[in-house]
Amino acid sequence: MLKSDNIPTVSKRIEAVQSVKGTRDLMPPETSVWQRVEEEARRVLRAYAFREIRTPILESTALFARSVGEDTDIVSKEMYTFQDRDNESLTLRPEATASAVRAYIEHRLFNEGGLQKLYYMGPMFRRERPQKGRYRQFYQIGAEALGSDHPAIDVESMEMLVLLLEQLSVQEFTLLLNSVGCPRCRPEYLKVLRHALEDVRANLCRDCQRRAVTNPLRVLDCKVEADQPIIEQLPRMADYLCPECRQHFEAVKDGLESRRIDYRQAPRLVRGLDYYTRTTFEITCSALGAQNAVLGGGRYDGLSEMLGGPPAPGFGFAIGEDRLALVVMDSIAKQLELGPLAYVAWIGEAALGSAENLARALRRQGISVEISHQPMKLKKSLGTASKLAARFAIIIGEGELESGRYQVKDMTTGQQTEIETNQIERYLQQNSARAI
Ligand SMILES: [Zn+2]
Ligand SMILES: [Zn+2]
Repeated sequence: MLKSDNIPTVSKRIEAVQSVKGTRDLMPPETSVWQRVEEEARRVLRAYAFREIRTPILESTALFARSVGEDTDIVSKEMYTFQDRDNESLTLRPEATASAVRAYIEHRLFNEGGLQKLYYMGPMFRRERPQKGRYRQFYQIGAEALGSDHPAIDVESMEMLVLLLEQLSVQEFTLLLNSVGCPRCRPEYLKVLRHALEDVRANLCRDCQRRAVTNPLRVLDCKVEADQPIIEQLPRMADYLCPECRQHFEAVKDGLESRRIDYRQAPRLVRGLDYYTRTTFEITCSALGAQNAVLGGGRYDGLSEMLGGPPAPGFGFAIGEDRLALVVMDSIAKQLELGPLAYVAWIGEAALGSAENLARALRRQGISVEISHQPMKLKKSLGTASKLAARFAIIIGEGELESGRYQVKDMTTGQQTEIETNQIERYLQQNSARAI
């Protein structure tokens, strides 16, 4: 039984709990844009024979330390890592490629032979400085093709992404392409890079001074303005590729050209993770301003072995869904009708039964319908329909009950039409431009 002194008194002010810094609620109508992005992504991924995988958000910390790399910003300062009650170190996933490859190994998908094509969507966690379009809980849609090192996989994945952006009416994007070599040719390049960095190290930002020693490739990622002219002058990986890597890179470029997919070579595009080999790529959107990459990925031929699995060359990418939704927002906001397709306005208790029957019949067909459960006058009903942004109001009063013909009012034009009860569904379908 509750003791009365446990109940807070009215006079005590209770402070409202806020969402955690760097996280946010996705609210309607924005969620409609997210749904549209996800539906289109699923459709395109299915068309390219990718199948969905759902991995846990919690993983062993070692998974990311071994794959993403100890000296990356992600692992060294951005992960949400904690000791579980039994002292195991756990991490909220900062990305999902490592998880997908872990699952591929754990479920022995390599035994099924051929190519395994998996996709995922969901939240990731990185403790970055919050800024526009960057959140500590952010969302990715990504895919991995495991089991082949053929350059056509790289090309086909990029073709698919370009198609997805086109389907979402995204204009003005640029595909950036690079090769980061392989464990055979990269050490030679790193030697040259380290040597070049020795001369300029003192002039670089403090992070780069450290990276120059621990992980020189990361210097190329640096976003500090003052470092840019120095980084421009550093030697380029493309000039040090081994014959196999060079051949792979040429095949990828040829493949893109033969499919008429525009790209630009970006010698500094190494991406912030250690597991990449050969192809790396990004797609940027001018609409996003300075931090303008909307998606990126590449090849990771040694990752499976790094995680204790058999050789399984792979290619993958992740789309920043927060950013893609931002880009898509403008282009499709007009196509999205955010209210229900129909609002059923019934006048007088006698009409309630018929109104509910109609609402149920339409909803069964997947048509979005809203209905009031309180009696209302016609004027107030139509006011509610327009507040909800319903496309049509279906009016059922005494006269309509007698005639068996309902008034259907187009809320955008104000035009009112009398429709036979059993024709209403067809009328709504035909007269609404949107997919229901
Ligand atoms: Zn190589
Ligand atoms: Zn720097």
